[in-house]
Amino acid sequence: MPTEPNTLIDAHGRQVDYIRLSITDRCDFRCTYCMGEDVSFLSRDEVLSLEECARIVKTFVALGVSKVRITGGEPLVRKNAIWLFEEIGQLAGVRELVTTTNGSQLAHQALALKAAGVKRINISLDSLNAERFKKITRVGDLAKVLGGIAAAKQVSFENIKLNTVLMRGINDDETLDLVRFAIEQKIDISFIEEMPIGAVDHARDSSFVSNTETLATLQQHFPLVSSALNTGGPARYWQVTDTQTKVGFISPHSHNFCEACNRVRITCKGELYLCLGQDDKIELMPILRAHPHDDEPLKQAIIESMKIKPKGHDFDLKRAAPAVVRFMSHTGG
Ligand code: SAM
Ligand code: SF4
Repeated sequence: MPTEPNTLIDAHGRQVDYIRLSITDRCDFRCTYCMGEDVSFLSRDEVLSLEECARIVKTFVALGVSKVRITGGEPLVRKNAIWLFEEIGQLAGVRELVTTTNGSQLAHQALALKAAGVKRINISLDSLNAERFKKITRVGDLAKVLGGIAAAKQVSFENIKLNTVLMRGINDDETLDLVRFAIEQKIDISFIEEMPIGAVDHARDSSFVSNTETLATLQQHFPLVSSALNTGGPARYWQVTDTQTKVGFISPHSHNFCEACNRVRITCKGELYLCLGQDDKIELMPILRAHPHDDEPLKQAIIESMKIKPKGHDFDLKRAAPAVVRFMSHTGG
């Protein structure tokens, strides 16, 4: 039997203790910055089964991973997704089970997620104007998402955070309103800089709003105190004084977060991507399917993958072609 370490350390000395698993590339929305309008989805046999997803997560957890984020596509449109959350929620090594959702299914799934052990939930919200919301998501219904946020509040997750991608001339005039909404709702909000992941219908460099600019706008209207909160991710947080709201900034462009990167991503096809902004990957699906009753080869492949985790991403908005051609819905945000 080969001996293996029980922690994942990459060639740059960073420990990987966080995985983000996309359980579907499908989505009930078509956000303009995330996917093309005529996106085609994978067929069922190209996608990991939920049992295979559970095997992957268990193997990573046996290797010291303690935080698991389930994402997509829209994770909650996958049939029986709750079963997977329950399986992961029962693993002793999992300190944090979290998910990122567009909120459309939360009204009827929030309770089951909470019961499965989900502690924190991120809900994407790019506009509070129903017409504009529909334009950005191409099909989404704002009322449904607001109902989902209300349901999430009702079941009392430890933390609820909105995720907002600001785009110039599209929704950047809502920066203050979105923060006011978060304050009213007593929840957090993070601004994610738009990333050039996948080719979309607009020029990324003309829609890009830097978080430096967003922070400066907010500082003119809200008393913000830099927060010591560190969630182990690229976000930097500011507390809005005398409120329960923290404002986070996820800034791959204006702040390079790679030196402290602690995560890897697994797509719904079982591709293990070592960096969101690079193409280095290994394929886990063939290993899983060749060894249906033995997780050892999977474990060894994951340990080996640490050797090729890149030092950092390579985003450049001005490049004619995107740095990474896959969509965020494919890799999992
Ligand atoms: N469907 C879920 C949702 O929208 O929250 C989960 C998957 S989505 C890919 C995860 C996050 O990625 C969302 O907050 C979304 O706004 C963000 N996202 C998608 N494409 C992006 C891009 N090109 N740049 C920055 N953020 C992006
Ligand atoms: Fe779907 Fe989320 Fe992408 Fe929007 S950002 S299209 S909700 S996967």
